[in-house]
Amino acid sequence: MALSILLTGAKGRMGQAIAAAAPEMGVVLAGAVDAGDDLAASFGLGTVVVDFSSHHATKALLELAVAREKPVVIGTTGHAAAEKKDLLRLAARVPCVWAGNFSVGVNLLFALTRRAAGVLGSDYDVEVVEMHHRFKKDAPSGTAARLLEIILEERKLGPEALRHGRSGITGERQPTEVGVHSLRGGDVVGDHTVIFSALGERIELTHKASDRGIFARGALRAAQWVVGQKPGVYDMQDVLGLR
Ligand code: NAD
Repeated sequence: MALSILLTGAKGRMGQAIAAAAPEMGVVLAGAVDAGDDLAASFGLGTVVVDFSSHHATKALLELAVAREKPVVIGTTGHAAAEKKDLLRLAARVPCVWAGNFSVGVNLLFALTRRAAGVLGSDYDVEVVEMHHRFKKDAPSGTAARLLEIILEERKLGPEALRHGRSGITGERQPTEVGVHSLRGGDVVGDHTVIFSALGERIELTHKASDRGIFARGALRAAQWVVGQKPGVYDMQDVLGLR
């Protein structure tokens, strides 16, 4: 039987991309909610909630999902680290796929970044550069945040290692720094580059998204996968079997 979903953030760029991708994926849009609508009143619609709205909306959405035991797919980004920790505890009480990026290519970039960070070691300086359209409200992107988490894990560094941009007399680059730079402009759907530089060579891993359909199809694939999973927080590595 076709999967039916409740879409939140339905009028946004991603909401529209998901509505457009649903028919080709055999998914039915049972309900659509945006800012100002009564989420609780629509919450019974659809088997899975797919959320690409605002980080302000995540807590209320997860509380409803827990109360109604409904699986969720969260694509919204921009949560502060402390806020996300609490939200993940809540999300773990239902089957939940939470991913900062639903594209297959980006999930491969995550795996390649982990491998490169491990093989190249601390002699290679790491910097992450991302670019998105002028309308994006958070920085760095959720995808850049995940790339940084992976690099910090591999390098055994804490969040204090992150350098968000540079300006003024910064002094020489420290080997433990991990730089992150957010560019904004035009209609760029999402570019991410991880640069590993040593004295004498440089490796750059780049992914460029040119169509939001890749995130939409990935999110719908996650929605199909999450039905019937045990409560817990999963990501696209689980959905794609990359773990
Ligand atoms: P957008 O601004 O175009 O759309 C967001 C929509 O959510 C708007 O229509 C807005 O009115 C609505 N909204 C705001 N508050 C709401 C609330 N409380 N309840 C319901 N709807 C609400 O943004 P977008 O480009 O579509 O991106 C949406 C989110 O998805 C962002 O956080 C973005 O970073 C993220 N995103 C994630 C991925 C991924 O693969 N995980 C890919 C692209 C974008």
